[in-house]
Amino acid sequence: MNEIKDYIYGKKDEIVSALSELIRIPSVMGEPTEDAPFGKEPKNALLKMSELCEKSGLSVTNYENAVICADLYPEKGLELGILCHLDVVPVNNDNWKTDPFELCEKDGVLFGRGTIDDKGPAVAALYAVKCIKDLNIPLSKGVRLIFGTNEENGSEDLEIYKKHDKFPPKVFTPDGSFPVINIEKGMMRSNFSGFISSDKLVSFEGGKIPNAVPDRARAVLKNIEQEKILSEIERDRSGAEFFSEQKGDLTEIVCKGRSAHASTPETGINAVTALISLINRLEPVLKGLENILPFGETDGRAMGLSCKDESGALTCVFSIFNISDGKCSGTIDVRFPVCKNLAFVEDQERKALYKAGFTFNDYLGDEPHIVSKDSDFVKQLLKVYEENEGEKGYCVAIGGGTYVHNIEGGVAFGAERGDIDYNMHGDNEFITTEELLKDAVLFAKAIENVLN
Ligand SMILES: [Zn+2]
Repeated sequence: MNEIKDYIYGKKDEIVSALSELIRIPSVMGEPTEDAPFGKEPKNALLKMSELCEKSGLSVTNYENAVICADLYPEKGLELGILCHLDVVPVNNDNWKTDPFELCEKDGVLFGRGTIDDKGPAVAALYAVKCIKDLNIPLSKGVRLIFGTNEENGSEDLEIYKKHDKFPPKVFTPDGSFPVINIEKGMMRSNFSGFISSDKLVSFEGGKIPNAVPDRARAVLKNIEQEKILSEIERDRSGAEFFSEQKGDLTEIVCKGRSAHASTPETGINAVTALISLINRLEPVLKGLENILPFGETDGRAMGLSCKDESGALTCVFSIFNISDGKCSGTIDVRFPVCKNLAFVEDQERKALYKAGFTFNDYLGDEPHIVSKDSDFVKQLLKVYEENEGEKGYCVAIGGGTYVHNIEGGVAFGAERGDIDYNMHGDNEFITTEELLKDAVLFAKAIENVLN
């Protein structure tokens, strides 16, 4: 009965060693070359995985060194795809306790860049397929492993894949969390511009990341009494911190808030809107903007966007705002539920910005993504999850997008569990050895269940 589990646990050393070979390749996006669309190291990671797949007896296809596929029983028709990525985010500082590009096992915990995102789950998926093959577990259809190399920078790898091949009708990616993520809200990141004529507001710069609540903003004001500024700062109740410094007739005000991902803005303190609100109390030059994007509001109500359904509530973040020489530009990030579409969000924003004297310029966006929780595929994944994890399986809706956002029939299945913080994208990223093996077992059983 525990054939799969015995097989996987018996391969523990081999699995950990395969992971360490991949961790050793610092597959951060680099300069593209003719045969390496995302740089040298992502390609090296792809070739290493290709070697591991071939060693496992799978037939591998390489699409432009961007994506590889490794198939088991393709002649039966590929019904299920497992999509993982081998690129990683950069290591930004030296708070790592171990070398991020050298897998390090300490008390059953594996540290290294990519251990949870997404090289660990990728190795688990490979061994799940290898296990099915080596144990001769019968499948009525074929399964395809798909390994990409550009998930962290826009998933252009999948565009290359689509030029050559189509996705199987059912796809899961272990690049999210358990149990199953079946709904991903739509996303619109829009840019607007306008002019401000004021001899009191010299410049403003706030926020740098389009998909985050900005934690810093700075403005320079002219000819405003220092005393007035200090008393408004004193009276401020936003929760943000303000620092002011006078230089002749200019005063610089710096505002510090708290950063948060744009899909969960309620956990942040927006430094841009907090500073705009403070400036308007000194000199109402940005009143129109504050009216449509007020501090403390995260549901887009003032722009007529507010709505919610089974996928949750719409979120709206004013993430970047700059003024220089009277010209201003801004960015707004909206995550909207499945009941709405890009056209609705564009229309509401365009109207609200126009009324406030600004111009809606352009946007980057994705429509919402949904796979029915009542589909056989989702039910099978949840059943396998319940049987193996001993926990109730359920579906989750999220505001961020996963690797399968633009793949019909795609869901995220793993690999984060519960509320554990795996330091994904941060220092000391990890997965436990036990979780790595459990994932491989879970994926093997998922393949067996979905394909029979
Ligand atoms: Zn990832």
